[in-house]
Amino acid sequence: MNYQPTIGLEIHVELKTKSKMFCSCSNDPDERGPNINVCPVCMGHPGTLPVINKEAVRKVIKTGLALNCHIFERSNFDRKNYFYPDLPKGYQISQFYAPFCKEGFLEVDSKKKRIREIHLEEDTGRLMHLFELFESEDSSESERPDGPQTFVPRTQSRGSRRPEGADYSLVDFNRAGVPLMELVTEPDLNSAKEAKNFAEELRLVLRYLAVSDADMEKGQMRVEVNISLTESRLRDEGGKEDLSSLTNQDKTLGAKVEIKNLNSFRAVEKAIEFEIERQREILESGKKVLLETRGWNNVKSETFSQREKEEAHDYRYFPEPDLPEILISPDFVQNIKADMPELPRQKRERFEREYGLNEKEIEIFVQNKSLGEYFEKIVSEFEPGISVDNLKKLIKLSSNYLITDLQGLLEGGLVSDTGFLIIPENFAELIALIAKEKVSSNIAKIILEEMLRTGADPSHIIEERGLAQITDTSEIEEIVREVILKNPKAIEDYKKGKANALQFLIGQAMQMAKGRANPEVVNRILQKNLTENK
Ligand code: ADP
Ligand code: ZN
Ligand code: MG
Repeated sequence: MNYQPTIGLEIHVELKTKSKMFCSCSNDPDERGPNINVCPVCMGHPGTLPVINKEAVRKVIKTGLALNCHIFERSNFDRKNYFYPDLPKGYQISQFYAPFCKEGFLEVDSKKKRIREIHLEEDTGRLMHLFELFESEDSSESERPDGPQTFVPRTQSRGSRRPEGADYSLVDFNRAGVPLMELVTEPDLNSAKEAKNFAEELRLVLRYLAVSDADMEKGQMRVEVNISLTESRLRDEGGKEDLSSLTNQDKTLGAKVEIKNLNSFRAVEKAIEFEIERQREILESGKKVLLETRGWNNVKSETFSQREKEEAHDYRYFPEPDLPEILISPDFVQNIKADMPELPRQKRERFEREYGLNEKEIEIFVQNKSLGEYFEKIVSEFEPGISVDNLKKLIKLSSNYLITDLQGLLEGGLVSDTGFLIIPENFAELIALIAKEKVSSNIAKIILEEMLRTGADPSHIIEERGLAQITDTSEIEEIVREVILKNPKAIEDYKKGKANALQFLIGQAMQMAKGRANPEVVNRILQKNLTENK
């Protein structure tokens, strides 16, 4: 039997704001000490009142606009009631009935993937299970970005005997009340790869928007996967519309399973691949897939059952009485639109149109945003008066040198790093020198290395280190004569018609010129001398 996977994602994103969602505590993901950024509001003390963080609302709407969503004029917050030790109020302020954004899409690999909604809520605290340290040293639980963390208190160190009191858990409320955006997709994804690509493209958009750093390893972006299998026969007959109701409700087919604790894109992909196989085996043996929430074990690369799926009514959602209804004025939306940066998709199109780069180059400049910006600054340095063909050549050379040579030398560093010393003007000058064949590619490498180290301009380096191309042909003639004298064997080979003998002789001459000769000139003079000597 053929089964088709149906996948929908629920993605939580911690927003980058100065303060928390409903109080003035600082939202600092790098805070090291526990319970530093806390106050009676985010600790859920009775009698306190929340105040909405306007910047967080702005960032959600900005995301919604970037993802082609409908933005509602009226919205409100709701209480999602449940008990857990990292949630001191006993409820989470979220949005259930009237989220800010609905019905958008993100284009991934030229396919539109629908977004059901984007809403705003608050994050919980973090639990730390001290006892895990003394039970299993490499427990996969401790790798959960949003789950329990192992914690080494100052007075006790790893490996000591289990101390008294190590059977309780600690809770850090620094993260409690941090603005958290949740994005829910329609079940439009059909493979592990598609889901991973969606999540990666979304991260890129979030970073372009500067709404979040969206680092999965730090738990700033958390992807939950919903997945079910459908017999492909049903899929072919039924349209997309009735498919979701079929897979959701019809228990003879696979029920959907939710997978949590995925802390990398790789984990998203692997967990889906694993789950497709697991569900297929269950369905093929004639059994039913259980509607449940499963966790992901990174070490064993498998999902495991966590709990049965809760339903919306379990949370007893109701409108948050301590907060007013929110009116989003057209002006507010207009201001956000006016402030919208260029998005990855627009940048891809523009880089193709303006610079004629190929897809691979474009993707590097889109993914490495600062490198792309640096590339554009270099291009703008080229004299405005030059011909189209010349400019094309300079653009192509710039792209090659940035992507290959410079990135190689940077070893993962960024051109936006404070230690990066090459100003665009100097890089452009180097490219122009290469284009005019004033320096060979070998010399260009030497110059680039020095530019990276000192920030000096290329003509300065050329002068200082005597790297200028030998333009005097008599000097090259001399080198060529010497090469001919020193390599009788290669000369013999050349006369016998061996093609690579010529390459060898050119190499020898270039070496003797310490790379400062123009290989084409060397070639010409060498051939001239060889035919004359015949
Ligand atoms: P629930 O009511 O169980 O929370 P929702 O309809 O709210 O389910 O959808 C939650 C997520 O699950 C969404 O991302 C949605 O796209 C996805 N989803 C819905 N139905 C399916 C399905 N049959 N298979 C896979 N994912 C699904
Ligand atoms: Zn607070
Ligand atoms: Mg739901």
